[in-house]
Amino acid sequence: MRILIIEDEHQLATAIAAVLQKENYTVDVCHDGETGLAFAITQIHDLIICDLMLPRLDGYAIIRALRSQNIQIPILILTAKTDSDETIIGLDCGADDYLTKPFVMGELLARLRALSRRFGHIVATNLLTFSNLSLNPQTLLVQTPHTHLQLTLKEAQVLELLLKNQTTIVSKELLITKIWGYDSEAEDNHVEVYISFLRKKLLLLNAAVQIQTVRGLGYCLRNTQEGEI
Ligand code: CA
Repeated sequence: MRILIIEDEHQLATAIAAVLQKENYTVDVCHDGETGLAFAITQIHDLIICDLMLPRLDGYAIIRALRSQNIQIPILILTAKTDSDETIIGLDCGADDYLTKPFVMGELLARLRALSRRFGHIVATNLLTFSNLSLNPQTLLVQTPHTHLQLTLKEAQVLELLLKNQTTIVSKELLITKIWGYDSEAEDNHVEVYISFLRKKLLLLNAAVQIQTVRGLGYCLRNTQEGEI
């Protein structure tokens, strides 16, 4: 699970990141709102921890921007005061939960677990689609209009990550981190093997989708029903 922390108090951000990494979460940290939003829009994260008072763009604006683009990633806000107005505005903007500073790390971890349980279920039942292909990440069933195939767990996880990042290039490093874990011994050739399995299955399905290799960068999906760019 990959978590984005948007927090301008460096010490606090570092402390949260250290605790989360110890719990085997993968963590990215941003110290200002603009960078945080740019990261959040890539949708590679499973959850966002967001401070409200931030330089360049505040937490409310980040949450509104994500929700207006229909990005439903769970967001936990950190509020500086016990001022309930601030919290209410944050939740009204589309945040899912909040913690008031100062907080104990144990409570933060418990809330993250609760959020991921609540949202893991919703995310898992959503069909992911691209061109004439769709994947159900819960059943690992991939289908085109006339046929379907069962994927293995790892194949489905690789395809899921590509489908969730249709507009960007997905690096091998990201695939390894997300699927095998950041401290795993998996190497680039693990990814290559699964990409090759998936390519064969896409052919069998007659899917109008190709997994393109972008040399030195990673992989991206291409809709073969569209003309060449
Ligand atoms: Ca702040």
